[in-house]
Amino acid sequence: MDDASQALTQRYRDLILEASGDGVYGVDDQGRTIFANPAAVRLCGYTFEDLIGRSPHELTHHTRPDGRHYPASECPIYAAFCDGEVHRVEDEVFWRKDGTCFPVEYISTPIIEDGRIIGAVVSFRDITKRKAAEAALEASRERTRTLEADLHHVSRLSAMGEMASGLAHELNQPLTAIVSYVRAAKRFLQGDMPDGEARAIEYVDRAADQALRAGEIIWRLRQFVLKGDGTRTFEDIGTVVGEAVSLAASAVRAPSIAISFHEGPGSNLILMDKVRIQQVVVNLVRNAVEAIGDVNDGRVDIVSKVDDADGAEVVVRDNGPGLAEEVRDQLFQSFVTSKASGMGVGLSICRSIVEEHGGRLTGEENASGGMTFRFTLPASPDNAAT
Ligand code: ADP
Repeated sequence: MDDASQALTQRYRDLILEASGDGVYGVDDQGRTIFANPAAVRLCGYTFEDLIGRSPHELTHHTRPDGRHYPASECPIYAAFCDGEVHRVEDEVFWRKDGTCFPVEYISTPIIEDGRIIGAVVSFRDITKRKAAEAALEASRERTRTLEADLHHVSRLSAMGEMASGLAHELNQPLTAIVSYVRAAKRFLQGDMPDGEARAIEYVDRAADQALRAGEIIWRLRQFVLKGDGTRTFEDIGTVVGEAVSLAASAVRAPSIAISFHEGPGSNLILMDKVRIQQVVVNLVRNAVEAIGDVNDGRVDIVSKVDDADGAEVVVRDNGPGLAEEVRDQLFQSFVTSKASGMGVGLSICRSIVEEHGGRLTGEENASGGMTFRFTLPASPDNAAT
């Protein structure tokens, strides 16, 4: 390259650096500023003269974002001319002359001449706007999460309203039994039968068993209504689904419909929000029972099993009429319902709960009539879209 071309190239380099919106400065191998472009000067609120010959770390990088002192020995900018590596940082702050700071991302690259590191060049960008956009996005995600949690809660409460009368019916049985056992025990104690006391004790024991049963029914309802706080724990899928099926079966009050639960071989602990997964099962069973209606020999079969990848699969199969024409193509869409008093949100909530766990919920019509809903839950928390 002749001298004229070299001068031109140099001129362009200078112009590019001057025009750049990113701050660019260079330091020598002692960490002193030897060059700074106008953006670097402007962004940090210093003059060119303030910066040249001084340590940029001491001027603009002395304190960490959380207010702690930032020792120069830990500074990635300086590290570049010590270890010869490129250092890229995305979440630090630079301090202005007036004591305020701004978030930056920067890259510090060693300058090498004749195989020797003679300094580093730093290119940085003010990311205030990006951070603000990220914070706004996170705030809106948080709002969505809150709304979703409320929606789950509301739907659980309304499901509970429907279940209350079914549960009242189921509670009646142990309560009636308790009254009879206790009355019988009293009669044995008052009479003069030789084994009266022993029999009274036996009847009091039976009453206690029934009281425990009543307590269990109430416990299941409480678990269901508890507002899930997103806490995930490792649970046995068979136990979780079994409990939900008992709850649904006692709540739906459909004596002519046979509801069966079968737990497949093997067991595996799955990381889940138990309350929400039970809500999915209860919804699917309730939908199946409602679809079957008054059909004779109605059946709902629920199976939980461990799948090939050590995840879980839960299948809810019914022998009802299958899908109504108006919902066929939009089964999982919100507010699509074939029921006079339906809200049409159950399945879409179920799907989002399953997907939050990294699984899939599908529904298909059986060749022999009725529907099969199936959902999966992956074994590994890594697969779960939290
Ligand atoms: P809702 O029960 O309030 O209507 P869902 O979202 O739970 O809301 O269900 C949407 C629609 O999907 C139901 O109205 C019904 O038409 C259909 N559906 C759901 N489950 C079944 C099933 N097992 N058999 C037939 N149709 C079903």
